[in-house]
Amino acid sequence: MKTIYVDNNATTRVAPEVVEEMSPYFSEFYGNPSSMHFFGGQVQRKVEEARERVAALIGARPEEIIFTSCGTESDNTAIMSALHSNPEKRHVVSSRVEHPAVKNLVAQLKREDYRVTELPVDSKGLVSMEEVARTITDDTAIVSVMWANNETGVLFPVEEIAGLAKSRGALFHTDAVQAVGKLPVNMAESQIDMVSISGHKLHAPKGIGALYLRRGTRFSPYIIGGHQEEGRRGGTENVPYIIGLGKACEIAARSLEDEYLRVRSLRDKLENGLLEKIPNSIINGDREQRLPNTVSISFEYVEGESILLKLSDKGICASSGSACTSGSLEPSHVLRAMGVPFTAAHGSIRFSLSVYNTEEEINYILEVTPPIIEELRSISPFWKGPVARSCSAS
Ligand code: PLP
Repeated sequence: MKTIYVDNNATTRVAPEVVEEMSPYFSEFYGNPSSMHFFGGQVQRKVEEARERVAALIGARPEEIIFTSCGTESDNTAIMSALHSNPEKRHVVSSRVEHPAVKNLVAQLKREDYRVTELPVDSKGLVSMEEVARTITDDTAIVSVMWANNETGVLFPVEEIAGLAKSRGALFHTDAVQAVGKLPVNMAESQIDMVSISGHKLHAPKGIGALYLRRGTRFSPYIIGGHQEEGRRGGTENVPYIIGLGKACEIAARSLEDEYLRVRSLRDKLENGLLEKIPNSIINGDREQRLPNTVSISFEYVEGESILLKLSDKGICASSGSACTSGSLEPSHVLRAMGVPFTAAHGSIRFSLSVYNTEEEINYILEVTPPIIEELRSISPFWKGPVARSCSAS
């Protein structure tokens, strides 16, 4: 059976060029980049090349890039750094739809007596700028709002929020784990102070990330140790993975525009096809302000998990809600925050595409999904036949 992988917001295939570039740095060039000798020096130069490549993808300076172990570490580093660097401020602003890497940290901060405001979202998953403006105060140390939501793909007005944060003297961090590599990101023309990146969402391996830290931003390290990363992140560098992240960023920078136009048109074909063929299907999230690769769709009166298993039997790998919440039968916190009704939230499926998906694969998904939903509805006690909806194919 052929594998059709449409779960790229969970993780991506490591690009073959990335594997090739990393390979010699396991057993051939295995020096420590901190060593004084030539054997370490050649590795250090390669790490710096990777830093330049990551910086180039997001319009940053190389010295503004700190390598970390993952997106979660980058998120934690950014928020904790803001709090430690501004101990007089006790307020944190975030949103209700953040990834657990931010959401659970913020919940912990609440237990530690920080004042936390999680911005609500509307039924399309969007935040209100008036609400943001009302929320940030002189006591706000950090505003952390994601660039793109991992479940729905909805994009947030991060530049505008960063401007507001700056005007009130607060730092602004964005979890751009789902955005970098899929959308143009340019820190040279931005007011954002910190940006989290994760390798495995853009065809580098799992277990490598980066934090963009705007030059001049006060910083307090999260992992305290040696002098690596200019004393900003202790621990011997994960050289092969750093090199892999650099290569993935170089590829993304080259292919961003053309490839993602193609991905977007495949996503649109999939989305419109599903809406047309399956009654009572609803797109979750704003259809304009959205990543080009993601569709979150609810099929009313069926269980997402049952759909996933049946899709999996046909070789199709998708997700219900975020990968981190699957396994739990509760609708995801993102869909709940958007007020998606229970009957729809339970039957939500996320398809997330990558540059490796083909039109043939989309046709196959469109062929096998409608009979799966029909079969599951035929045994659902709640399904009473199609109901007209205002959200139809476009
Ligand atoms: N932030 C978002 C939006 C994500 O989608 C993820 C991963 O799913 C993370 C953070 C965590 O990244 P990592 O798996 O590299 O820790």
